[in-house]
Amino acid sequence: MASVIQRRLKDMMLNIQVMHVCGTHQDTLERYGLNPLLKDSGIIVRQGPGCPVCVTTSHEYEMAMTLARGGKTLVTFGDAARVPGRRGSLLDLRGEGCDIRVVYGVEDAIEIARTTESEVVFFAVGFETTAPGTAMSLLKEPPSNFSVLSCHRYIPPVLDSLLGMGEFKPDGLIQPGHVSAIIGLQPYEALAKKYRLPQVIAGFEPLDLLMAIYMIAKQVSKGEARVENEYTRVVHPEGNTKALKALDDVFVPRDLAWRGFATIPNSGMGLLPRFSDWDAERIYQDELSNVPSDDEKRGCRCGDILRGVIESHECPLFGKICTPANPVGPCMVSIEGSCGIEYRHRKTS
Ligand code: SF4
Repeated sequence: MASVIQRRLKDMMLNIQVMHVCGTHQDTLERYGLNPLLKDSGIIVRQGPGCPVCVTTSHEYEMAMTLARGGKTLVTFGDAARVPGRRGSLLDLRGEGCDIRVVYGVEDAIEIARTTESEVVFFAVGFETTAPGTAMSLLKEPPSNFSVLSCHRYIPPVLDSLLGMGEFKPDGLIQPGHVSAIIGLQPYEALAKKYRLPQVIAGFEPLDLLMAIYMIAKQVSKGEARVENEYTRVVHPEGNTKALKALDDVFVPRDLAWRGFATIPNSGMGLLPRFSDWDAERIYQDELSNVPSDDEKRGCRCGDILRGVIESHECPLFGKICTPANPVGPCMVSIEGSCGIEYRHRKTS
């Protein structure tokens, strides 16, 4: 089947570039060596801003570190805890006596709050995929010593921002299967109209990606700009209505900066006022008022990678100064980061 798709792609004699927005898609592309095969068929695929740990800004990591240094129990996911900041990562703060806990989900963080007297802050990083879990937990009224530092983000606004910038001009977008399972197809329709851009939601197997790219290529060759769903076994047109309701019940869109981007209107998920008792930004606003603003680490090109401007191996630090054992930026730390993925698979292939 893969060879049939490749032959058909070659027969189209296209010369196009496609962007995906998902670390798992990047992993599949690298793991199965699809990129060289696609390049040979005239198709270049780049990863965009699809790694939540990577797009979280230095400022947000500094906010989490400030709260940890201030004596809170800071709870987050493993990748987020390892991202290097100005003076090390959250995990490094353990050496200063800070209480940093790594969990698999918000429920674990709430369980920690139930078993301690300390103030427990959940550093909530992620897109529409993980945000419903945070929302549903808050709807169950967690303990009063628990709060959320919400760094959750919506995917469609960052795509609008990226396409509007015109720095990287994709001929089509592969939309992420996990996020699309929550938000459905409708949020992508506006992008299709505004930018005349083919979009296909894809699953995570090699054949899913090849088929999605073939569907995009067919649209390009016919001059179409539609939203199609290759991942019909999981993604329904209306999305997950229960999860969407939880998001609407708990979060309000707010303007937010992303790593590599300026502030993007309505791209962040702030907590609605009725959840202010669990809103770490409100509770600790005095402590957070002097957190330094953004500052990409010197030489790190994560921002350019997240905008699709360069590929990981084009960063001068890639594999030399910056490795998974000694990461300079989040794209080398995160399991969904393009630099770490490329390093792991090129080293093992
Ligand atoms: Fe940043 Fe390292 Fe990736 Fe370069 S290789 S962009 S320094 S994470």
